[in-house]
Amino acid sequence: MSDTRALVEVDGVTKTYRTRRNGRWQLVRAVRGVSFRIPSQHIVALVGESGSGKSTMAKLVTAVERPDHGHIVFDGRPIEEWRRNLREYRRHVQMVFQDPYAALNPLNTVRYAISRPLVNYRRLSQGALEAEIRRILETVHLTPVDEFLEKLPFELSGGQLQRVVTARALASQPRLIVADEPVSMLDVSIRAEILRLLDELRSREGVSILYITHDLISARMLADDIVVLYRGTVVEEGAASTVAKAPRHPYTQLLLRSIPNPWAPPEETAVDLSRIDRVSDEGGCVFRARCPQAMERCAEAVPRLTAVGGQQRVACWLYDRAEAGENAPEGGQPSALRPGN
Ligand code: SF4
Repeated sequence: MSDTRALVEVDGVTKTYRTRRNGRWQLVRAVRGVSFRIPSQHIVALVGESGSGKSTMAKLVTAVERPDHGHIVFDGRPIEEWRRNLREYRRHVQMVFQDPYAALNPLNTVRYAISRPLVNYRRLSQGALEAEIRRILETVHLTPVDEFLEKLPFELSGGQLQRVVTARALASQPRLIVADEPVSMLDVSIRAEILRLLDELRSREGVSILYITHDLISARMLADDIVVLYRGTVVEEGAASTVAKAPRHPYTQLLLRSIPNPWAPPEETAVDLSRIDRVSDEGGCVFRARCPQAMERCAEAVPRLTAVGGQQRVACWLYDRAEAGENAPEGGQPSALRPGN
């Protein structure tokens, strides 16, 4: 059984950027009061469209950015404490990027790419180095190893490149891998293989994974828990099997309906989310401008995350006790995803 102690706790994190558009400065609230936790050896998926704040969360968790408010705790220590030794933090928290072509130096062989973190972080001797490079390549299924060691990036397929990038991330023996859309640039046929590999790494290497994606289906395949972000706020969270199968929030429901289903009858066409108007949503529920079920109350106040059964939580007035009556749960359990529970 996996250890469910929280490796990462994100509590009420907010991040605002100042950007210049049409000659005027604007504040963009990328993340607003986001909280979730990643237990040891768990996979948590942050799901949302572009602009939802999921990549900002990746930068905050990897200490590339600092939050304006709120706290991030890694392995029991605040991230601000880890900042005093960022090198040590980076050893424990590695990143796998969306574009494996851009993540690797085109002039470096596979052997060199994987040896760098082994030398920098683990200071292995020459003999141990060779054995560890081979072990890691076998772990990511780049075998026979001798066929790959001296290859340059242009000689590898997209799936093989993503395995090299994953192997490089593994080399420092991290406790957490932040995987930012790691399969979105790959052929559909090899996406499942990379997701299976990430799942294997959790059980065999004992790493936790923060999986960042716009794809609810891959999140259901890989993750234990799903956190759905919309415009920087958590709108739904819970066990992956529940959230992706029976979403409660109107946004998560639209996300699910936007996935093309080749077996669906012609009258059930997928929802094109990009075609739904993006009217200003200042005040009230962040999703109200696009919500097919919006009510008067939705413009007046921001809904809080409410338990709707088991460990599923939804920020929507449809599930508020006063609004939903008997639909609201009696003393629903607090979510395992929430810090402090
Ligand atoms: Fe839609 Fe209102 Fe729920 Fe927001 S609070 S998701 S606008 S029904």
